[in-house]
Amino acid sequence: MTDPRILIVEDETALAEVVRDYLVAAGMTVDVMAEGTGAVDFALEGKHDLLVLDLMLPGVDGLTICRELRRTSLVPIIMTTAKVEEIDRLLGLELGADDYLCKPYSPRELVARVRAILRRAAAASSGDVGQHQRLKIDAERWQATLDGITLDLTRREFTLLQSLAARPGRVFSRDMLLALAFPDDTEVFDRTVDSHIRNIRRKIAAVSDQDPIRSVYGVGYAFEG
Ligand code: CA
Repeated sequence: MTDPRILIVEDETALAEVVRDYLVAAGMTVDVMAEGTGAVDFALEGKHDLLVLDLMLPGVDGLTICRELRRTSLVPIIMTTAKVEEIDRLLGLELGADDYLCKPYSPRELVARVRAILRRAAAASSGDVGQHQRLKIDAERWQATLDGITLDLTRREFTLLQSLAARPGRVFSRDMLLALAFPDDTEVFDRTVDSHIRNIRRKIAAVSDQDPIRSVYGVGYAFEG
């Protein structure tokens, strides 16, 4: 496995350097950008395993970058901000960042959080959607099983469930689910997501009394496992 590659977008150069040194010492490869312009494009190249994204940046701010990325990308994001009261507001905006850190933070704390998120992401992408959870997803065979019983899903339903289950707890908007699950499928629309989810739920209900999909009013859906 190659070293995790981290993108730091931070305009405080001294801080960015310290953080970079700590991450490198922890065995990671690090890119640093001192402004927001171009950060979305760079991140969308898909080379990075995680972003450390400052909120206030020259050029494009962290909030815009996070929103842009979350339209199509699941790359883990740690947002950093200079004001602790900002964090509540950011949480309320449901930006989809994975974690938030208030400045000044200890580089050691950041490394610990980066490691924790990378561990979770690795577990999720290995298809190992939690050992204690009952849903198993076999991406090669397009097959999902719940408690050992195969769910009779269509390809679209499978892809949708797979996208949701890849990030337990994360709330996805319908737009994001569309972009993730059906990037090239122009026949699927916002409301189609709802009917696919209904079908998935019906098929899950046939084998289980638990509904692992949570509806988030006005936003979309989350997989709770
Ligand atoms: Ca800043």
